[in-house]
Amino acid sequence: MSQLANQYGAINLSQGFPNFPEDERLIKISENILKENIHQYTPMAGLPSLLEKIARQTEKEYARKVNPNTEILITAGATQGIYTAINTFISHGDEVLILDPSYDSYEPSVLVASGTPIRVSLNDDYTPNFNKIEAAISPKTKMIVVNNPHNPTGKVWKALDFENLETILEKHPDILVLSDEVYEYISFSQPHISFNTRDKLKHRTIIASSFGKSLHVTGWKVGYLIAPENLMQEMKKVHQFLVFSVNSFSQHVISQYLNIVDFSEISKMYLRKRDLFQSLLKESRFELLPCDGTYFQVVNYKSISDINDVDFATALIQKHGVAAIPISVFYNDHTDRQMLRFCFAKTDETLIAAAEKLCRI
Ligand code: PMP
Ligand code: GLN
Repeated sequence: MSQLANQYGAINLSQGFPNFPEDERLIKISENILKENIHQYTPMAGLPSLLEKIARQTEKEYARKVNPNTEILITAGATQGIYTAINTFISHGDEVLILDPSYDSYEPSVLVASGTPIRVSLNDDYTPNFNKIEAAISPKTKMIVVNNPHNPTGKVWKALDFENLETILEKHPDILVLSDEVYEYISFSQPHISFNTRDKLKHRTIIASSFGKSLHVTGWKVGYLIAPENLMQEMKKVHQFLVFSVNSFSQHVISQYLNIVDFSEISKMYLRKRDLFQSLLKESRFELLPCDGTYFQVVNYKSISDINDVDFATALIQKHGVAAIPISVFYNDHTDRQMLRFCFAKTDETLIAAAEKLCRI
């Protein structure tokens, strides 16, 4: 969709990345660091100062003490972290529960590992359906993937959701949790509940996060995993021969930047953008679904057209100059639900210009 948007000169609210200028302080640190002797491999698990800062941040945010030497791994974006986690623990015939709809990288990672993805539908309001989750568990189930806040729906898990999962998994002590928390700092309706705080499950949970999302630098591709040492040791064996280590420059810059960045500003900034985008679209014929986290707004266009979402999204670019992602691509069965996902991680000017076009449809 980004490619098609570029081809037609459309405003790109499809792929999830910010288009506003980066923090001047991050640029300054980058310029200064370039001149230093930082251009060779970092240690395999990551730059020690960055690992320490992540440990400090995790303690500050979630009151969890993690050992920077043994429980954190810097990855080439959350994507590589997720791939590494799945390919470390999943082998032929192992089943992995993936909620439906979901972000697109989990299922292919399971397939590459010769595992079997088992898709479990969310409820109509995108809350997890614990009856279905429990029914999907078999003796082959090795892992469940949880993504909270959720891409594409913007749904966030409540404390009760965690409790329900804990009750089910108590009966299955060998099932691992892979928790994709890349939007941990973009939660509007409540403070983010991290698996870092879930004492009943954290000993068997791998958490993936992304500085691409948290620091608005998606192209830098720096993320990290947090997991207990016994799991981390195994993941490091895969990581070592997948990338060995992540690019040194970004790690050095991020490590310094973490001394000054205020993560609490991120949700505030995106909340304002969500509200702006929602208020602008009130005049349109799109129906807005609730968005409690992430920087994605889901809409349905049932009162505008009955064509399928892929065709609608294509026409939206070609005829109306705005790009979105059709929601069907996030579903296992690709069934059309006449819905689109818009990314509002954009300048106010971009959002206003896009909304003007969308209100004319
Ligand atoms: N998980 C989710 C839910 C995402 O939306 C994304 C996309 N940014 C990723 C993982 C991948 O993150 P990264 O860009 O750090 O690889
Ligand atoms: N996570 C981003 C999204 O959902 C994009 C990442 C990608 O394009 N692979 O739009």
